[in-house]
Amino acid sequence: MNTRDYQALDRAHHLHPFTDFKALGEEGSRIITRAEGVYIHDSEGHRILDAMAGLWCVNLGYGRQELVDAATAQLQQLPYYNNFFKTTHPPAVRLAAKLCDLAPAHINHVFFTGSGSEANDTMLRMVRRYWALKGQPQKQWIIARENGYHGSTLAGMSLGGMAPMHDQGGPPVPKIAHVRQPYWFGEGRFGEGGDQDPEAFGRACAEALEAQILELGEQNVAAFLAEPVQGAGGAIIPPASYWPAVKAVLAKYDILLVVDEVICGFGRLGEWFGSVHYDLKPDLMPIAKGLSSGYLPIGGVLVGDRVADTLIEEGGEFFHGFTYSGHPACAAVALKNLELMDAEDIVERVRDDLGPYLARRWAELADHPIVGEARSLGLMGALELIDPETGERFDKALGAGNLCRDICFELGLVMRSVGDTMIISPPLVITRGEIDELVTKARAALDATLADLRQ
Ligand code: PLP
Repeated sequence: MNTRDYQALDRAHHLHPFTDFKALGEEGSRIITRAEGVYIHDSEGHRILDAMAGLWCVNLGYGRQELVDAATAQLQQLPYYNNFFKTTHPPAVRLAAKLCDLAPAHINHVFFTGSGSEANDTMLRMVRRYWALKGQPQKQWIIARENGYHGSTLAGMSLGGMAPMHDQGGPPVPKIAHVRQPYWFGEGRFGEGGDQDPEAFGRACAEALEAQILELGEQNVAAFLAEPVQGAGGAIIPPASYWPAVKAVLAKYDILLVVDEVICGFGRLGEWFGSVHYDLKPDLMPIAKGLSSGYLPIGGVLVGDRVADTLIEEGGEFFHGFTYSGHPACAAVALKNLELMDAEDIVERVRDDLGPYLARRWAELADHPIVGEARSLGLMGALELIDPETGERFDKALGAGNLCRDICFELGLVMRSVGDTMIISPPLVITRGEIDELVTKARAALDATLADLRQ
């Protein structure tokens, strides 16, 4: 089959995620056929630097034979068995132990799921169950953030703060509130009364959280949920004042902290977990993606002692689980992935070498006429596109972000657009030379975007 055949069948039968099928038109989907290292290849023979690591997940890069071998060996030995009732199997047990070894000291248990969305559903049920066992069943409200992303199941969508998702497919799960995100460039730069200092803005976001807690009644609030750095919302790195102020608010009202590590976990920010970078002590951490470098689907919830001890000692059976919770082949691949990351000092390299190098090179793009801000942390970065004439956002109707994304692809680079925010999150095995290539291609794409918009 050639590209046209695949595109025709795709259009005829395949409802794939987050796609406007009518808008696909004659052009059709790009067909990705193979990949190695940080590069993907399409059916037309193009080699493209994948600066998104798939969907923020291929942390060890493409084509790692060790992961293929781990899957093969496990599929031959025991392709499937479950972890329900009183059975389990070696890969799940070994992966659980390895994860708890890597996690902060107060985290000693994990519940496996098949994805990050399922991890957030699981977390929600655990949090509410915890407070019920503690004699406070009214503590049901979860406060999350506007523009946060926590998945596409009903609970994941409801926990997320993405308005278009809430508008489709029925009402969200009750008793979930959203507070303002610490997005200085998008919302703080021109705050009430003119320019706002980022640190003052970060504190104001924590104050908004406190106000929300008081409005709901502190006795009714179970947990606060947030990503360390908001990923799908736009690689939103909070001002330094934000997390310390949030921590103080949560401690004041004894509210559980849930840190969604689905993107930030496993080295993305230069630590094993984003929580470590921000010195957080989460009660629960949903995980997925980089756990297996995306080679096979697996997620989970890392559960801190406070919640785990209560669930175990007082909870009896937890009526919850998935057919693929801790699937043996997925667990074997995840374990091998973590072992390789350990052996190759991937996390340290991101923290000490690649992250600072990307920060330096990425910041150079701030001088481009359509870039209002270039920010990065570890191996996650964003460019904010602005109209050079006004210094403001482009007119939305121009679709500058999507235009830039499509031009990037043509130039051999995957960058993601969220509105007019361009995002990167490359494999953690990227080299300095490949970072140079990434930045060069990004600049060329910015030039071409500007030229196109001026036509
Ligand atoms: N949480 C965060 C922070 C995510 O970015 C995602 C996916 O992008 C999810 C949860 C959902 O994970 P999954 O797509 O594996 O269900």
